[in-house]
Amino acid sequence: MAGSERENEKQIRCKRMAKHIRKSNPIDMCSKCGFCKANCPVLMVDRRESLSPRAFIIMRKEKVDSELFLRCTTCEACYEICPVKINVPEEVRKARSKVKSAYFEKMIKNIRETGDINARKKDVKELNCC
Ligand code: SF4
Ligand code: SF4
Repeated sequence: MAGSERENEKQIRCKRMAKHIRKSNPIDMCSKCGFCKANCPVLMVDRRESLSPRAFIIMRKEKVDSELFLRCTTCEACYEICPVKINVPEEVRKARSKVKSAYFEKMIKNIRETGDINARKKDVKELNCC
């Protein structure tokens, strides 16, 4: 195969690939590399993997609705570092619109019934003034 033919074939393949990438869902481009985790301020405080930007993308792919999406600050630090520029905060915002109302209803119910936002049982001893 001549050099120019090989070059043409390469260009055709690149164009096909670019077309495929444009058509596909951006979250499918996540390679699960985890670079985003190093920049996430939430993860710096709470080391749970389920709160990581990578986990948010996996949950979005698997169509999981979770209150965990409400923990993200949407600061975009993960987006800045991501090698394939996956817009995690944008995905988080989309996910939140589904979970928000159910979460707030639950929160209000907990406060009404127990006085605690998470419905935790209280072990508060009465303080008596002398
Ligand atoms: S969102 Fe980006 S940085 Fe994070 S795991 Fe996926 S590809 Fe890697
Ligand atoms: S946008 Fe959310 S997931 Fe991404 S770094 Fe900020 S807090 Fe973490």
